[in-house]
Amino acid sequence: MEVISLAGGSSYFTSPEPAVSAAVAALHNAKNEYGPTEGSLELRRSICRRYETYGLALPAERVLVTPGVKQALFNLFSVLLRDEDEVLIPTPAWFGFHELLRYSRGKLMELPTQAIDGYKLTPEMLRRSIRPKTRILLLTNPGNPTGRTYTREELEALLHVVNEYPDLYFVSDEIYDFVTYGQPVTPALCCEGAKAARTVILNGFSKSFAMSAWRIGYIIGSSDLIRKCTDFQAATLSGVNVFTQAGARAAMEKREQELPAMLEALTENRRIMQKGLDAIPHVHYYLPDGAYYFFPDLSYYLNRTSITGEQLKTTADLCRYLRTCYNLELAPGDSFGSPGHVRMSFAVEKHRLQDAMQRLRQGLMLLITA
Ligand code: PMP
Repeated sequence: MEVISLAGGSSYFTSPEPAVSAAVAALHNAKNEYGPTEGSLELRRSICRRYETYGLALPAERVLVTPGVKQALFNLFSVLLRDEDEVLIPTPAWFGFHELLRYSRGKLMELPTQAIDGYKLTPEMLRRSIRPKTRILLLTNPGNPTGRTYTREELEALLHVVNEYPDLYFVSDEIYDFVTYGQPVTPALCCEGAKAARTVILNGFSKSFAMSAWRIGYIIGSSDLIRKCTDFQAATLSGVNVFTQAGARAAMEKREQELPAMLEALTENRRIMQKGLDAIPHVHYYLPDGAYYFFPDLSYYLNRTSITGEQLKTTADLCRYLRTCYNLELAPGDSFGSPGHVRMSFAVEKHRLQDAMQRLRQGLMLLITA
């Protein structure tokens, strides 16, 4: 039986053809020169134009091109965080934040949110959690692993609280922003009350554009913050390679031609996964508004004995059982801050997804009927 993995973070789509052609052409035409550390002016202008559609006029000097959002985060943490500064992160959250913060001077403070509340961080919860050392509120919109997507009004209410604290930054990781199934995402900087000096957008090409392998993203912030992040990038890795940037620019320019087909496939896959989960008793989940994961609660199936005689005490045990007996890989929720849950990607081929949902049903049902 083929192994089916729903545990990964990248999608099954091939990268957009215009991106591939532009990168190849750039490679053929290239002179052997370092590109600008901050990224090519063409790509940065193309990124700025994208935000013009929301009425936001950005000069290119407010954009820094980075090798992925991971590095964008690392740049930001390195220049913003002082000893023991705190970064507030609503959980469940992507495990990468935790890992990155281990290599910075700050520390992660979890803000637990619940499925029953739609995983919503409220202004009251935020206000209660801010302390003298709080430096960053880091929101992922749409969220990974929950798919929670904040409306403009919800963002504005959070920004209102952030604005009461002159030392606090609102950092919005919008890497999944083109992948939504209802209302489109309002970029944080386009909200009323977003202060240019303290509102930062992180975004990239890995998810919405199916370009994880290319390693490219960007930061939008104040000119001053971008200058600091650029200096850090100059000292550590120079710029992103110029061929990748040519590809990313083509992808951005042709997004209206390339993205709808991917979104259509993901919308259909989301329906298949939802139907598959509905067919399994005692499984609770939040229907994602964005990104391409479900994060169901499988705790009903814990503390049971598998056909191999193993006691499935933890979510990792349950995932190991599904991997061993059904060749199905899921990501245990513990690393996202939610034991008992699993992250399941539906950015996989339709026939694999259908097969995976049957295997999951069989595997779980056997635990309660054997
Ligand atoms: N932020 C979030 C929320 C993510 O899910 C990921 C990738 N899993 C990243 C950032 C990192 O993305 P990149 O590939 O651009 O480094």
